[in-house]
Amino acid sequence: MAETLRPDICVIGGGPGGLSVAAAAAVFGAPTVLVEGRNMGGGSLNTACVPSKALLAAARRAEAARSAKMLGVDARDPGVNFSGVHRHIHSAIAAVAPTDSAERFTGLGVRVIHAQAKFKDRNTVVAGDVEIRARRFVIATGSRPALPAISGLDSGPYLTSESIFDLEERPEHLIIIGAGRTGLELAQGFRRLGSSVTVLEAGQSLDKDDPECVAVVLAQIEREGVVIRSGVNVVGISHSGRTVTATIETGGAEQTITGSHLLVATGRTPSIADLGLDKAGIRYEQSGIVVSRKLKTGNRRVYAIGDCIAGAFQLTHAANYHAGLVIRNALFRLPVRVNNDCIPWVTFTDPELAQIGLTEAQARQRGIKIRVTRWPYHDNEGAQAEGVPRGHIKVITTAKGKIVGVTIVGAQAGELIAMWVLAVARNLNLRDVTDLVLPYPTLAEIGKRAAINYFMPSLTGVWTRRIIGWMRIFG
Ligand SMILES: Cc1cc2nc3c(=O)[nH]c(=O)nc-3n(C[C@H](O)[C@H](O)[C@H](O)COP(=O)(O)OP(=O)(O)OC[C@H]3O[C@@H](n4cnc5c(N)ncnc54)[C@H](O)[C@@H]3O)c2cc1C
Repeated sequence: MAETLRPDICVIGGGPGGLSVAAAAAVFGAPTVLVEGRNMGGGSLNTACVPSKALLAAARRAEAARSAKMLGVDARDPGVNFSGVHRHIHSAIAAVAPTDSAERFTGLGVRVIHAQAKFKDRNTVVAGDVEIRARRFVIATGSRPALPAISGLDSGPYLTSESIFDLEERPEHLIIIGAGRTGLELAQGFRRLGSSVTVLEAGQSLDKDDPECVAVVLAQIEREGVVIRSGVNVVGISHSGRTVTATIETGGAEQTITGSHLLVATGRTPSIADLGLDKAGIRYEQSGIVVSRKLKTGNRRVYAIGDCIAGAFQLTHAANYHAGLVIRNALFRLPVRVNNDCIPWVTFTDPELAQIGLTEAQARQRGIKIRVTRWPYHDNEGAQAEGVPRGHIKVITTAKGKIVGVTIVGAQAGELIAMWVLAVARNLNLRDVTDLVLPYPTLAEIGKRAAINYFMPSLTGVWTRRIIGWMRIFG
């Protein structure tokens, strides 16, 4: 080995999780090594969040032009220049890249090594010709697209989230296998940019989300022309010239669907295969590295965070949250415990679908005696003025009004969920929300109206009726 390093912290993987640990460790003065095998910024910057949200932004603009007529604005049908969309996606990545770059991290005092890291034994990682014997290791190697075992898939080209954002020409007809978050966001995005889109899903779309709210999302996507086939098994793929054909099995019969491009969006698998985990005494399973509530692996020197852990939420902000916990525990020896109930998730379709805490089904499964209160967007002045009346908020509380979960489906649900993240994290009661003064007319008022709605039945109580009666007599 050319060199042996003995830092306080060695981080493996330069995605959002790893970068957050490395930046914080360096800022607190801990000697830190970061090993990244491909691109700094990880999936989030290069192949996932940033490019997908840039594509959706272009799609949203196209749809806004189309739907402007409803507000009396006669915009013409938008001409989509797909190579311009490609340019926008890659300029968004380029604009964020300096923040995640090796130069910036070197400037912070982190030693950045470009190589694939691998454990040699319980205390040593090898990266290129450098050996690292750190006081603590943090595995943040993320995930990559999972590929289903479908006959013929490898017989020709197909896309995954790692390649779809490199397309410079619009797909004529995009077939998407998988109606999860990625599949549905991209289905609507490509449809709005002018592609025909067919989504094939073996089970149910967005099956971890509240079905009542998922139905609102699916109805809109289908209204826009995306064909969603749920409960169908893709049993074969074949290629011929510039076309791809998926054979599906449904109700005992086979059918074929032919398109120009195929996107596989059937979930993600942890990037842990070549890490030498056995040599380091780190337990793992197919779904990822097994960690304790402190994010420690079976090897007490080693933490694991983000997408690579078993049961991970596979979200950038979850990886960042993990990073904060590891810094507190590894550098300051503070006690920490992961609380998954405080991690929100958002599907950036239009309407957006946002969740914090328990869904109604999860709360019932836990045996909590719950009450559900709702408020629709169409009863909100801001939503009517903006022309976005579809959707609703659904608040799940205990019988005493403690907020245990919130689902919002509708415009800007991803922004609106923020105040409910605080409510769930701080164990607030719906009464705390009725007391808020919110600016008028905003979509946030939908949440306050749901809270007031919760207490409405008690306004029909005997004392309330008497007081209202007295007010009438003496007022
Ligand atoms: C299309 C798409 C859209 C998404 N949109 C969102 C969104 O809107 N919001 C959201 O919160 N999440 C979103 N996600 C999920 C999000 O991208 C991931 O949860 C996030 O990137 C996980 O961060 P991470 O740090 O755990 O891993 P990653 O970002 O995967 O980074 C891991 C890094 O480790 C490196 N690495 C792996 N093995 C080694 C090794 N042996 N040695 C050295 N380096 C190694 C990899 O090269 C990679 O750079 C999206 C995902 C996809 C696919």
